[in-house]
Amino acid sequence: MKRVLMSLAFLCVMCSIAAIAFSHTEKNQTSADISQRPTVILDAGHGGFDGGAVAGDGTVEKDINLAICKKCESMLRFNGFNVIMTRTDDTGTEDVEGSIAKRKKSDMQNRLNLMKENTDAIFVSVHLNKFTTSAARGAQVFYTPNFDAAVDLGESIQSSIVNLLQPDNTRVIKMGNSSTYLLKNATVPAVIVECGFLSNSQDLANLKNSEYQSQMAFAIVGGITEFESVKDEENGSEN
Ligand SMILES: [Zn+2]
Repeated sequence: MKRVLMSLAFLCVMCSIAAIAFSHTEKNQTSADISQRPTVILDAGHGGFDGGAVAGDGTVEKDINLAICKKCESMLRFNGFNVIMTRTDDTGTEDVEGSIAKRKKSDMQNRLNLMKENTDAIFVSVHLNKFTTSAARGAQVFYTPNFDAAVDLGESIQSSIVNLLQPDNTRVIKMGNSSTYLLKNATVPAVIVECGFLSNSQDLANLKNSEYQSQMAFAIVGGITEFESVKDEENGSEN
């Protein structure tokens, strides 16, 4: 029964995303507008030498981040977005050899460079959380203080995840602190989506499940699509 309900919820999201995409197309009537849909830089956190957080059962964060991002990528492309992936396989983006610290610095710099090279993009980074106690659970979005739009983007994604997947999640979006390199230095509206806690057994079981990963991807894409459609309406009313 739960599965059926989840499938229905899934279908609803697909329909609403398609409806938003369709109404956008119809309103503006030209296919040229589709090509004006913004670029989304999808950043699967960590990769290669950098596994990220590791769960008690050995599950490594980087693999789940990538799985969710790949699912997001195809849904976003289907909706007419231009997508740039910071990585598409289990590698970091660093272009130096040497110590872990040196490679990590290069890796962060290269992810940041993609923002600098794509000034009209939005940046969505996917990560998983881990905490010292197992009770903490649920997704939470962090945003860069550098752009007001990042707050709107963050809120849109957070509420999409809560509405679709985590109705008991009371977390609110949070400004990234200075230790979050990519958010601190972001040159486009940027958010980090912490999809759940590897230290919580229920979150862990969900995050390892491919179907749940698809639902999480749908929720993130729904948030991005909603953010963009509100922005389009605002722009439209100004013209
Ligand atoms: Zn991470």
